[in-house]
Amino acid sequence: VIDIDIFCCPRCHSPLRLQDAQSIVCTNGDCPYGSGEGFPILDGQPALVDFERSVIRRERLVAAHGGSEISRERSGLFHLLRRLVKGEGKITDRNAESFLDRLLADGGKSGAQPRVLVVGGGTVRSCARRLYDRLDIDLLSFDVYASPLTNFIGDGHHIALPDASVDGVWIEAVLEHVLEPHVVVSEIHRVLKPGGLVYAETPFMQQVHEGAYDFTRFTHSGHRWLFRRFEETDSGALGGVGTAMIWSTRHFWYGLTGSRRLGIILALPIFWLRFLDRFSRPGPALDAASGYYSLGAGVKSLSSRIRSSPTIAAANS
Ligand SMILES: [Zn+2]
Repeated sequence: VIDIDIFCCPRCHSPLRLQDAQSIVCTNGDCPYGSGEGFPILDGQPALVDFERSVIRRERLVAAHGGSEISRERSGLFHLLRRLVKGEGKITDRNAESFLDRLLADGGKSGAQPRVLVVGGGTVRSCARRLYDRLDIDLLSFDVYASPLTNFIGDGHHIALPDASVDGVWIEAVLEHVLEPHVVVSEIHRVLKPGGLVYAETPFMQQVHEGAYDFTRFTHSGHRWLFRRFEETDSGALGGVGTAMIWSTRHFWYGLTGSRRLGIILALPIFWLRFLDRFSRPGPALDAASGYYSLGAGVKSLSSRIRSSPTIAAANS
């Protein structure tokens, strides 16, 4: 059963209406999605994509029954070796805890369960999995394809949720895969409630992954600038110089041999380099990190901002 009341039209933000068992339409008669095909329901999930303004093609999505066009197999011995080389996200674990603590502390005041939106939640790493295991948050997840972890199919450039409708947004290893990251971040800003939290992780010193669907990288400053409309609570490196070196080594061998698997196997002898991450010098290591994270809060309101501004406070006293 799909609760379409929580969504809105990704084009005009009007409420949606179930047309039949296979489609949803916009209630705005002037909207291109107000009649005709509307939005298809694929694999039990609504595909709330503004197809006219998205790289997601309706025909291809329907033909794939909402499934992914890229193989995303993650199991077996090889996956284990891959994890040994790539490491597990201890920093992500810690940040997930503080993200949840803050959300629940804020949500506790209103009494309602905080709603968390996972952007690009079709596949998640073990540390983000803990969000899915929590019963004290209301998790909503989408990706450009349907998976057992998603609730709807969508495009981050035009999110099918009303303004100020979620308490938290989790976006991990996604912004490098979107055409216009600043548009996606402004959509996150729009759907977040005032004071809501955003947590983002984006790679820096990592070679191309997911082939043609990998568009960009950010430095620490670039990532902070991307989230400039939020009040930064915390930001930093994910994986230091050792992790970056392992990535480079894997891709050194991949470039020479043409085999990603061989790249991983040939990088195995140096997997221990990532334990050097913790000994690296914070400043210089920040310039060579494998990736960055940012935790920020949406600005509560103009008035609370003015009140907390030291210059204004000084002028008033
Ligand atoms: Zn509409």
